[in-house]
Amino acid sequence: MCHINQQRAKPANHGSHKASVTASQVRWLNLQEYQSKKLMAEAGIAVQKFKVASTPEEAATVASQITVPEYVVKAQILAGGRGKGTFDNGFKGGVKLTKNQADVEDLIKNMLGHKLTTKQTPKGGVKVTKVMVAEALDIQRETYFAILMDRAYGGPVMVGSPEGGVDIEEVAEKKPSAIFKDPIDIMTGMTDAQAVFMAKNLGFDGEQGKQAADQIKRLYDLFIKVDATQVEINPFGETEDGRVVCFDAKMNFDDNASFRQKEIFAMDEMAESDPREVEAAKHNLNYIGMDGNIACLVNGAGLAMATMDIIKLHGGSPANFLDVGGTVTEDQVFSAFKLLTSDSQVKAILVNIFGGIVNCATIAKGITNACKSINLQLPLVVRLEGTNVDEAKQILKDSKLPIVSAGDLDDAAKKAVASLR
Ligand code: ADP
Ligand code: MG
Repeated sequence: MCHINQQRAKPANHGSHKASVTASQVRWLNLQEYQSKKLMAEAGIAVQKFKVASTPEEAATVASQITVPEYVVKAQILAGGRGKGTFDNGFKGGVKLTKNQADVEDLIKNMLGHKLTTKQTPKGGVKVTKVMVAEALDIQRETYFAILMDRAYGGPVMVGSPEGGVDIEEVAEKKPSAIFKDPIDIMTGMTDAQAVFMAKNLGFDGEQGKQAADQIKRLYDLFIKVDATQVEINPFGETEDGRVVCFDAKMNFDDNASFRQKEIFAMDEMAESDPREVEAAKHNLNYIGMDGNIACLVNGAGLAMATMDIIKLHGGSPANFLDVGGTVTEDQVFSAFKLLTSDSQVKAILVNIFGGIVNCATIAKGITNACKSINLQLPLVVRLEGTNVDEAKQILKDSKLPIVSAGDLDDAAKKAVASLR
């Protein structure tokens, strides 16, 4: 198993060879390169001086704030492969070098506000809202170094290759012997010997070997301290004047640790997240946007999956996955309805609730209140079963709302699909 192909954006299955950019329920927080580098600089890891521009005004002034012989201008998006990417205005390269301070502004302006497509982004690309300007260095050699929380090893594992840089995916595929892995015992931590050995495998000797081992140890300490699931440095480079430097940085964080990593999670810009998902998260709803037109409101992830499948089976297409869970409140049902109806692609709503822990009457009250207050115009099919279902049905009936009730899941999906015609 190799993680080199892992996306910066929304990793789906940690441990899968090719993580996709499609949504999954596990969301590791991803930070932008400049944010990760800030954490790294604080941990004594070698990164360049940098500034960030997010407006044309800042574009005009950032370069003058760092005076260096050569600049590198880098589009900040969560996907990798920026160096070889293309912008929607035809501009090529999300990582550009220049020795001329006066050129920096134009380079930034060619990136800011434009969509950058790389081999890791979705097809349409990702809009660039921030651009980093950093000191460029003459890189003599590019290696690859990463630490990942790995399911197969049941703990952290270091992955390194002396052949790093923008073509690391190719190395992983065509020359797996050039990829070195070393699991770390999380109880004892990384030993000096392990760090030295990895530095050697990456081709660092003498003074550079010492520097590289020191950087590797600091990266591991940071990885543990911030509850990272991944720290990837590509290139982990050696400069002409013998310095070992982290030129790129990609860090992911374990969402389960958000309670003790508040500062890190507060850095989440969510600029690349689906706005519907950001809104849903505020209301504690498990929501994932899809591209169909039948919105689903379901309790339980399994039932939600089954509901989506059955919609498909009957020729429809789900607009989302929404699991309101077992502890759902009337307010959450209300928020869920607001969310579903504010999505212009939604043409019908299907509610499928099995009341085990959930009280169907709570759902029914939430639905009727929501329908009245948002003046729902869309067809609504409701299937309720289980705890307090009779009272729930009575509530729906008494509301006099044009709700289509369904007897079972199959019936509900058929009616929802039929309502679109
Ligand atoms: P990505 O992986 O998204 O393409 P990188 O940050 O790795 O972006 O940049 C791509 C390439 O640009 C690097 O492999 C390196 O060759 C070069 N590069 C990046 N940062 C610097 C820098 N500070 N100085 C010199 N070259 C750089
Ligand atoms: Mg890189």
